[in-house]
Amino acid sequence: MNDKVCLPRLSLGCLGGTVSMQSGLPGHGVTPKLEGRELLAGLPLLGSLAQISTATLCLLPSASLSFQVMLDVLSWARREVEGGAQAVVLTQGTDTLEESAYFLDLLWPFDVPLVVTGAMRPASHPGRDGPANLLAAVQVALAVESHGRGVLVVLNDQIHLAADVRKTASLAMAAFESPGWGLEGYVVEGRAIYRRPPALRKVLPLPRGREHRVALLETCLDADSALLQSIPTLGYEGLVVGGFGAGHVSAVWAESMARIAQDMPVIVATRTGSGPTARATYGFAGAEIDLVSKGLHMAGDLCPRKCRILLWLLIGLDNQAALPGWLAARQ
Ligand code: GLU
Repeated sequence: MNDKVCLPRLSLGCLGGTVSMQSGLPGHGVTPKLEGRELLAGLPLLGSLAQISTATLCLLPSASLSFQVMLDVLSWARREVEGGAQAVVLTQGTDTLEESAYFLDLLWPFDVPLVVTGAMRPASHPGRDGPANLLAAVQVALAVESHGRGVLVVLNDQIHLAADVRKTASLAMAAFESPGWGLEGYVVEGRAIYRRPPALRKVLPLPRGREHRVALLETCLDADSALLQSIPTLGYEGLVVGGFGAGHVSAVWAESMARIAQDMPVIVATRTGSGPTARATYGFAGAEIDLVSKGLHMAGDLCPRKCRILLWLLIGLDNQAALPGWLAARQ
């Protein structure tokens, strides 16, 4: 029998990002250029691990990805699994990877691994990390131990859960961390090694509504509340605020947010980058006890950007009532 036939089937979807970027005209900087087949061309080893089919789903910098693009990517990945793929890998830009991975994770209904990877150095630069990251992502995606963990993020030989991972450095090679939770696992000599068993996952159905918008604002010292107050009149249907410290805002913001919370869900997260919001420590106006009494939701350790994604999906299902349950898991 042909050896190839025995290899597992893996689908590779490429969205663009630095992993696919090369320079064109001198002085013009790098832009997404490499399609899926070209990414594979630099890694002949992959052909001995799996039968890989590739699709270039778009060639965008990740700042220009959208929820609609991610829903299209999800449909493609679901079709691949339903058609027999045993693993799926996506390559994309790292700038929004923590958000798109979480978006997909909330909607990924399979035990089959969906692994997202990228690169910090462009494909045309010396010491590029794209090929090593793609190889590690494929190895993780093919490992039986990866099943049932939802969407995984693999870069720098580290495996992160989509819900926990954050990009914490702008240009460093070690740009991803899972603050407070640590790595889900790591890749050693091509093996995916996990530090814990898979946790129980909750998955959402596909959103029915897609036209709604959720705003994200961040508190800062001496912030005026003009933008905040305009949120309802601008047509937003939900609001996330990246608050100070343990999830705090000024007394003035607290009053405006209380009014907004009468019309739409409002979540307060921490802007610090790690740790949960408090529940019952601070008693001043704008602190958690006051905010909860005003009908706001505390995010726990879900970062502001991921809160916005969760809220957008719940509003799209007309199921805002499920928000406290989802956030309770992060307290
Ligand atoms: N550093 C980013 C990347 O890794 C820039 C471009 C992007 O996110 O698409 O891909």
